[in-house]
Amino acid sequence: MKLLVTGGAGYVGSVCARVMIEAGHEVTVVDNLITGNRDAVPDAADFVEGDVSAVAADVLGGSRFDGVLHFAAQSLVGESVEHPEKYWYGNVVESLDLLEAIRRTNTPRLVFSSTAATYGEPESVPILESSPTRPTNPYGATKLAIDHAITSYTGAHGLAAVSLRYFNVAGAYGGAGENRRVETHLIPIVLQAALGHRESVKIFGTDYHTDDGTAVRDYIHVYDLARAHALALESAVAGRHEIYNLGSGSGFSVRQVIETCADVTGLEIPVEEAPRRAGDPAVLIASSDKAISDLGWSPTNTALPTIVADAWEYTRALGDRAHSAPRA
Ligand code: UDP
Repeated sequence: MKLLVTGGAGYVGSVCARVMIEAGHEVTVVDNLITGNRDAVPDAADFVEGDVSAVAADVLGGSRFDGVLHFAAQSLVGESVEHPEKYWYGNVVESLDLLEAIRRTNTPRLVFSSTAATYGEPESVPILESSPTRPTNPYGATKLAIDHAITSYTGAHGLAAVSLRYFNVAGAYGGAGENRRVETHLIPIVLQAALGHRESVKIFGTDYHTDDGTAVRDYIHVYDLARAHALALESAVAGRHEIYNLGSGSGFSVRQVIETCADVTGLEIPVEEAPRRAGDPAVLIASSDKAISDLGWSPTNTALPTIVADAWEYTRALGDRAHSAPRA
């Protein structure tokens, strides 16, 4: 298929672009490079620099595309609480412009990067796709708004769409991994602390109702996540919007993640206890049974030490290219 990948210079988007190319698809990446890295875009992909709202209509209108994988987004929970405007404009308005470009050009398929944050604080875990959606932060609220827009576009305009609700994505694949200019995610932060690129890891909240008092998340390997996108694209049916959770099905607390990183790296990781981060739910664990049964998805790298080991190999190999590396 000929595919447009928005946000293909970002972490998840660039790994997915690679996996799509490996599966034999032809990929054009659109990215404004505000948070993405140009060198993360696979060499075999065409590249167009710009905001989705500015360039997607021209790209999709320029030749016939079989589908769009939409990753471009603002994606930080904490920042979304402090700067909701960045999320409502950057996520919702940009995505509506993309949906319009898709409709006008009759592009048949869309796979959307949704999130576990659409569910908010769950009543029970594991979280099913039928669980209530009550986001606790603007990031989750904006992704949910786009999911609703996609549902109405599929019904009215015959688009074939799949939303994939990611839990906590980590690890690396094919030389692509987490190397953000501003890092807020737990595993890369812990590995940066192991390397001495930051003084310590702050544990946000030690008074949650969990076994050790720290928040629990379900970590999924970025390669397994990318494979699910390839399957979602093939399974999409005109006029339908399917939603699938993607996680590994088990939860690890912040302290357990830090311990696993210490084991994998063999290095000491200094920690500091800090207040809860606004907008963070206590426990998020996925049921991915629907993706496994409907898509034939079979995640293979579900063990947390494997995910951390791949992230560690990538982080160490970055050397001076790491945005967190001390500058001379
Ligand atoms: N976290 C933490 N210290 C950090 C970064 C994250 O304690 O420096 C916690 C965060 O509060 C959450 C979990 O680790 O409970 C995972 O956070 P992350 O930002 O990686 O992903 P999110 O769950 O927000 O998508």
